[in-house]
Amino acid sequence: MSNLRRHAVTIIPGDGVGPEVALATRRILDAAAARAGVAFDWEEAEAGASVFLKGDQTGVPQATRDSIERTRVALKGPLETPVGFGEKSANVTLRKLFETYANVRPARELPGIPTRYKGEGIDMVIVRENIEDLYAGIEHLQSHDVAQAVKLITRKGSEKIIRFAYELALRENRKKVTTASKANILKFTEGMFKRIGEELAAEYAPIEANHLIIDNVAHQMVKDPAQFDVIVATNLHGDIISDLASGLVGGLGFASSANYGDEVAIFEAVHGSAPKYAGKNVINPTALVLSATMMLRHIGELDLADQVEDAVLATLEDGKALPQDVVRQQGGDVEAAVSTTGFTDAVIENLGRGPTSVPTAASRPRATSVKPHPRWVDGEKRLAEVGPATVLGVDIFVESLLSPAEIGTKLAALSGPNFNLRMVSSRGVVVWPKAAPAFDHVGFFRARFIARDETQAVSNEELLALVTRVAGVAQWVHLEKLRSWGGEEGFTRAAGE
Ligand code: NAP
Repeated sequence: MSNLRRHAVTIIPGDGVGPEVALATRRILDAAAARAGVAFDWEEAEAGASVFLKGDQTGVPQATRDSIERTRVALKGPLETPVGFGEKSANVTLRKLFETYANVRPARELPGIPTRYKGEGIDMVIVRENIEDLYAGIEHLQSHDVAQAVKLITRKGSEKIIRFAYELALRENRKKVTTASKANILKFTEGMFKRIGEELAAEYAPIEANHLIIDNVAHQMVKDPAQFDVIVATNLHGDIISDLASGLVGGLGFASSANYGDEVAIFEAVHGSAPKYAGKNVINPTALVLSATMMLRHIGELDLADQVEDAVLATLEDGKALPQDVVRQQGGDVEAAVSTTGFTDAVIENLGRGPTSVPTAASRPRATSVKPHPRWVDGEKRLAEVGPATVLGVDIFVESLLSPAEIGTKLAALSGPNFNLRMVSSRGVVVWPKAAPAFDHVGFFRARFIARDETQAVSNEELLALVTRVAGVAQWVHLEKLRSWGGEEGFTRAAGE
């Protein structure tokens, strides 16, 4: 009987340069594993462009889903998203199918890679919420020419990701967690994220916690990136600042990432399929190889992870076999660069060695998989805590080419005995009863109706009767109930309201 420690892993080579970086990574992992008495049972699976071409609109076939359900671990090359055919990104589909809610992207100064920040000691991790926010993909045309996306943020989703960030900080012996948000503008969505960050900061007290507005994070990252340790952010902001972070330390060729869920984890490079380099054997595979080291730690192969990471760092530090993106950054002649295969061979030769100019992987605190204990309360208990909602009125969104004065006057006449039309707004600015000085017509308004008797909750029947009356004069498109909890309004005011 073999004494090998075996791990089944789903490998998705993906599109463009994907198969080349996936093969490089697999070769390095197999070589390292053979030295350590470990073996991988690779389950090769398809996703992305080839799958869309076969007519599967999800981009992720059932066989691939089954494989990941079995192995619970996937190493993935980049997947192309067809533009303009309504298909969802296969990447986003994979993350959502397996609820991999935590996207982790480290950015650390690497030996041998020239950057503007060389020597400043950049070593940060961006923790990005991976399911919610604008990536929920809930979009509707409100009129032919007015588009709307829903920015969905939940208490549970925010708590899971912020807790994840703190737990990661603890395991990696990191000192500070920065919650980044746009709470100054988005009071409810980003505001909730910020508040939960503050609540949890108290629970993880030995770790220094701060909050920064996301635009200032971008500014500070360029000005003084070494101040950051762990940054946690909502989905879209996290996406943008993690690309910025990878640019600080050498670019997409080095940017690794992991998507963690409670059951499944998917490891991938940040970069895409780089189609212009596909099949040319010139692409830098480091990003996926470093993502694979995160995978090795996740499955408990800590020494193996250190060995692979140290061999990569030693190869970059040696500078004898560098891929063309690095040679270009160094200002050298790309003719002197090695191929993807050449770089892979050099890393394999360096297994067992480590860098000398930066700490070796083995000498740094090691993060294994992070599974924070869920402490969020169940729905019923939460309902008892916050109490029932009181309905105060309704926002009715209408498509109309009437002037603000005309639409306002018509809608006010429909208010009936139970409501007052408090205001009409266009793109968040009141245009009736007060005129907005620089109003620009987009053919879409919001009418805010509030109950005349504010001490009485509004019934569904009253609301529906109002909507039916409005339908007589304008095309209503969607409704938002205006509710409050314990006297606190659950909706923002328009500018000028
Ligand atoms: P990209 O594929 O990341 O490539 C953009 C540029 O980044 C490349 O032209 C190259 O820059 C550099 N680059 C990327 N990977 C590199 C590597 N391994 N080594 C060195 N340099 C590297 O972005 P894109 O062209 O915007 O996207 C192409 C396709 O990929 C799209 O279909 C997109 O949807 C998809 N995509 C997939 C994922 C994913 O699967 N997670 C992520 C992003 C994009 P130079 O031209 O300067 O050499």
